[in-house]
Amino acid sequence: MNKNINTEKGDNWEILMPAKKKILVTGGAGFIGSNLVDRLMERGNRVVVFDNLSSGHTEFIEQHFENPDFTLIEGDVLDTGAIEKACQGTDFVYHVAANPDVKLGASDTKVHFDQNITATYNLLEAMRKTGTGKIAFTSTSTVYGEAKIMPTPEDYGPLIPISLYGASKLACEALITSYSHTFDMQAWVFRFANIVGPRSTHGITVDFIRKLREKPEQLEILGDGKQEKSYLHVSECVDAILFAVENSPEEVNIFNIGSEDTISATGIGKIVVEEMGLSGVKFTYTGGSRGWKGDVPRMRLGIEKLKALGWEPEYSSERSVRETARALLDLEKNPKVD
Ligand code: NAD
Repeated sequence: MNKNINTEKGDNWEILMPAKKKILVTGGAGFIGSNLVDRLMERGNRVVVFDNLSSGHTEFIEQHFENPDFTLIEGDVLDTGAIEKACQGTDFVYHVAANPDVKLGASDTKVHFDQNITATYNLLEAMRKTGTGKIAFTSTSTVYGEAKIMPTPEDYGPLIPISLYGASKLACEALITSYSHTFDMQAWVFRFANIVGPRSTHGITVDFIRKLREKPEQLEILGDGKQEKSYLHVSECVDAILFAVENSPEEVNIFNIGSEDTISATGIGKIVVEEMGLSGVKFTYTGGSRGWKGDVPRMRLGIEKLKALGWEPEYSSERSVRETARALLDLEKNPKVD
């Protein structure tokens, strides 16, 4: 990475563009973060990406490197000095950085505690010390655990996560809402369904493409394939985030973001097989109702709150998955297309 990107451009901006909003995006080089950054840049903001590049890629944001309104800071939210420095003069923080691998919690019990809870605490402390008053947080449907009401509304309770990842995100939400109240901050918490789209680097569609590349005659599906979940395209996810931030002025604003239907794991397998132009693929199942310990087999979020505000998704789960498979396959053919 070209380290000059940061300091030289950062210094120039303060003089040239004093009126623009400075937005910090932690995890801005990752899948969802980089799609959000594209949209924030389009809207004429000054954007600072703060990312340790553990799962993010400079290729996802390099289109902005020549733009004086853009800065990349390669840093870790666990580095308290670095995150506090990055918060200086910031108007708004999108806290997207996290370890998003739900499965990992069963074999590594510390990773989500560190990367999600401690990292969020560090960021909130940095915001408090620098007087940065607004935060949007990327939470997850897994905070609901195995909800008995479906579609699950934001006020569903009690929240009983079944994965360490879900537990860590719920803890982050609690820290964010309590900091908002105690230190007069304002917060937007977004509980996502499964988000898919260009630049996905993990998740079921990515896994299936990888498995079918290795063994085009067979697809192993974790669980019984009947898991039914909601999938939303990242472009719609980013739309919803920006819409809610602009239109919801409470001290704490909590929104589900998802599609209005579900698709099964087997259904996703069929789409990927079709999009790869394969035939005669044998589906095998590892068995059991869930794919792994901590997997929630049925998930659909109620999005009435966002709809009442004026936003609703256009894509079904199937269309979101199909377009994602297409985009990822195109990218394999031509690495510059996204
Ligand atoms: P991702 O792995 O592509 O993005 C995470 C980014 O954070 C990466 O760029 C990574 O390098 C960076 N990062 C991680 N730890 C960091 C640290 N300590 N310091 C600085 N940077 C760090 O994942 P994603 O799918 O884009 O997820 C983004 C956010 O959305 C996460 O908070 C995730 O929990 C949440 N989320 C994602 C989904 C989904 O379906 N993808 C669903 C629900 C919630």
